[in-house]
Amino acid sequence: MNNISLKKLSFYTASLAAFAVLVLVFATMLFTQTKLKWYFFTVLPGVVFIAVYIIIQILVGRFIYSKIKLIYKTISIQKSEKGKVKDILENDENLFDRVRKEVEEYERNKIAEIEQLKTMENYRKDFFGNVSHELKTPIFNIQGYIETLLDGAVDDPTINKQYLLKAAANVERLNNIVQDLLEISQYEAGKLSLEIDRFDVTQLVKEIFDSFEIKAHDKKIKLVFKKGSDKPFYVMADKARIAQVFNNLIVNAINYGNQDGEVSIGFFEMEPNLLIEVGDNGPGISEEHLPRLFERFYRVDKHRSRTEGGTGLGLAIVKHIVEGHGQSINVRSTVGKGSTFWFMLKKAK
Ligand code: ADP
Repeated sequence: MNNISLKKLSFYTASLAAFAVLVLVFATMLFTQTKLKWYFFTVLPGVVFIAVYIIIQILVGRFIYSKIKLIYKTISIQKSEKGKVKDILENDENLFDRVRKEVEEYERNKIAEIEQLKTMENYRKDFFGNVSHELKTPIFNIQGYIETLLDGAVDDPTINKQYLLKAAANVERLNNIVQDLLEISQYEAGKLSLEIDRFDVTQLVKEIFDSFEIKAHDKKIKLVFKKGSDKPFYVMADKARIAQVFNNLIVNAINYGNQDGEVSIGFFEMEPNLLIEVGDNGPGISEEHLPRLFERFYRVDKHRSRTEGGTGLGLAIVKHIVEGHGQSINVRSTVGKGSTFWFMLKKAK
């Protein structure tokens, strides 16, 4: 019964009924000792066969169809699959097996969906916790400076300007956090639309090096190209976003790098891609931190990140952009020697 289609079920039941009628006709003939006409042995079972076949088709079919339809409705099979239930009902030998399997699959999918929702919920809770924590510090600082100024420090020429500058620095920090948050929330909402163009990535890095000249000079850090990399390399990518990737990686290399250090950019052709490396000879990052480095708000040295004005979102943004280009961001690092971040971009023809 488990593995039978409606057609077969109707056929077997109708055959059984026709056979029963035939036996009945024979029995009647034997008991009554009368000779029955030929059509009692042919037409009558034939009619019974057809009648039972049709009745089973209609009644049982309707019954099962209504039950299965209900199941399919519950597991929300789309309208486009409406004909599917009828088709299964009429032709599938393993009707009940099949329905069971589909319900089990539905259950598995639902469990996976719930798990995913739970993870996202935790993620969101974490995110809000982190955001509040990040915003609290600069707000608290600004509040402190303003209150002190209002309490009389505003008239003290030795500290009033200094406090205002400190408050302003915290406002800037607040602004950076909000900008990064806006950006990352756009990426996470899947709104990263890329404008892919052909451009010379070496030229782009030169422009970025120029913008970091003062910052690097303050720490006596040299910004250099690796040997053979100071020539044009054309790639197909979103120039503005890749500029941001370089910005975030270079600013980190300077912020966390050593005084008198070096930040180097290397390009290596690996058809059809260009391998790009941003390296420094700073303190390096120990291995246990590497797997989590690209998570939002993950910091190796919290205190240092904050004093350098870091938002903890730089590498998470880099990851989004690089992955948006269909590539992955990677890092290798040796404590005491330095770190190298690398990713690929498609070379332009
Ligand atoms: P942040 O705003 O704190 O710099 P990022 O996401 O850019 O946030 O970086 C995450 C953490 O990774 C940093 O806080 C820092 O501890 C570590 N880090 C990033 N780049 C480097 C580097 N080049 N050398 C050493 N540590 C780094």
